[in-house]
Amino acid sequence: NNLDYASYLKNAIRTVPDWPHEGVMFRDITPLLQNPKAFRLLIDVFVHRYMDADISLVAGLDARGFIIGSVLAYELNVGFVPIRKKGKLPFTTIAEGYELEYGNATVEMHTDACRVGDRVVLIDDLVATGGTMMAGYKLLQKLGADVVEAATIIELPELKGGELIRSNGLPLYTVCSFD
Ligand code: AMP
Repeated sequence: NNLDYASYLKNAIRTVPDWPHEGVMFRDITPLLQNPKAFRLLIDVFVHRYMDADISLVAGLDARGFIIGSVLAYELNVGFVPIRKKGKLPFTTIAEGYELEYGNATVEMHTDACRVGDRVVLIDDLVATGGTMMAGYKLLQKLGADVVEAATIIELPELKGGELIRSNGLPLYTVCSFD
């Protein structure tokens, strides 16, 4: 059942305290990716959630959103779009800035990355403050896409990113959460 797979996947995630700096509990998905049973289960969870949702595109956030998003796109038989950190994309781009704990960041997407009316799943590994997901959402909206849902492996409820995303009208699906 639901609880079983969620706790199995949660147990496959490693916590690294004080990385990249003091006070951060880094939720490291590399052990999950390295375990073929867990990786397949994770992707199957997302595939089953979206297989009948008439999705036309998966958009993944730099960089761990690329790993899971591209496999999901392949399984749904739709295209994949990378939303990248500033300065990485070669063609014409649109950009969206957002606040970080220290300073700010910008994500970019190609202007021809999606079409008006595309039904998109926006995916990343983790939602903390929700800033990254919201920036990706704004880029997709600028190009007229219909973002059906945001999806993530991990949510950190304490940082209220899920609340921010949902209060802006974007449903958020998460596999597990860490307090
Ligand atoms: P935010 O924009 O605050 O929601 O942060 C989410 C982004 O930062 C995602 O791309 C995550 O991969 C990364 N991130 C933030 N906090 C953590 C954390 N505690 N562990 C792992 N990744 C994190």
